[in-house]
Amino acid sequence: MKVKCDECEVHFEWKPEERQLEDDRVVTYFTCLECEKEYVGFVKNKEVFELEKERELWQARLNSPQTRKVAKKKLKELEEKARVIMDRLKEEYTHGA
Ligand SMILES: [Zn+2]
Repeated sequence: MKVKCDECEVHFEWKPEERQLEDDRVVTYFTCLECEKEYVGFVKNKEVFELEKERELWQARLNSPQTRKVAKKKLKELEEKARVIMDRLKEEYTHGA
C-alpha cells in the first residue's frame, strides 16, 4: 500500500516498523524514504494486547450458533475499548507526553 508524505509529497510504500518503548508501549510507525519524516500508525500497551487476546477468544466463538450473538456484542465492546486506549496513547506519544 502506498501513502503520500505530507512533507515532500512523495508517494512511498507503507512499510510498518515497530519500536518498543521503555514502558509497556509498542509504537508501530513508518518513515518516508525521501525526507525521513516519521508517521505514527498506532501505539499499543499491555492493556491493548490483553484486549486483543480476549478478542481472539471471542472471535473463535463466532462460529458457534449458541455463542455467536454474545460474541458479536463482546467483540464490538472490546474493539471500542481498545480504540479509545489507542487513541489516547497515540495522542500522548505524538505530543511528547
Ligand atoms: Zn517525505
